[in-house]
Amino acid sequence: MTQDAIERAWDSVVGTARRTVTDGLVVGTSGNVSARVGELVLVTPSGVPYDRLTPGDVVAVDLDGTQVRGRLAPTSELPMHLEIYRRTTARAVVHTHAVHATAVSTLVTELPLIHYMAAALGGPVRVAPYALYGTGELAAHMLGALDGRTGCLLRNHGTVTYGDSLDQAYDRTSQLEWMCRVWLTASSVPGLTPSLLSAAELDEAAEKLRGYGRPR
Ligand SMILES: [Zn+2]
Repeated sequence: MTQDAIERAWDSVVGTARRTVTDGLVVGTSGNVSARVGELVLVTPSGVPYDRLTPGDVVAVDLDGTQVRGRLAPTSELPMHLEIYRRTTARAVVHTHAVHATAVSTLVTELPLIHYMAAALGGPVRVAPYALYGTGELAAHMLGALDGRTGCLLRNHGTVTYGDSLDQAYDRTSQLEWMCRVWLTASSVPGLTPSLLSAAELDEAAEKLRGYGRPR
């Protein structure tokens, strides 16, 4: 892997991490972002404000979690990131403590089908059972909730999404947070219950999304 490719990827990791703060998906240094470059995983460090990260702060680990670059310690949520890279074709992972998504994680075991954009995450979004942050147990719960999906909620904690690129993983986080906000908003109207989509309606939307952008 060339130095150049690593520097460019680090730049995108830091840029995406800063976006999670400016877009209000995390507060301070909570949440974390990673990208896979060959057999390396570049990941945001633990406890350093993203606006202070420089090109020289590259933190890289191999798929076993052994640090191979950098002096700053990798995020404490490294086990979740690594599990996704080991088990899927992900090139990027975004973890946040977005307000509406975290609120929903405390109320249900699956985000009700309030909008067809759930299809963009592979189907109804599950909530992984609670486990202490940074543990292999939490990473295992997350993997279960991600089965057939590219995103999930973590009970009393936040969101995890992955994608083929940092932009795609980030967009999935934004869509997930937005859907949670819609569901919370609709369910907060006294005396009324939001209508939900059926599995068949979601399948139909998934089919159409798959054809999105193709010439007709
Ligand atoms: Zn977290």
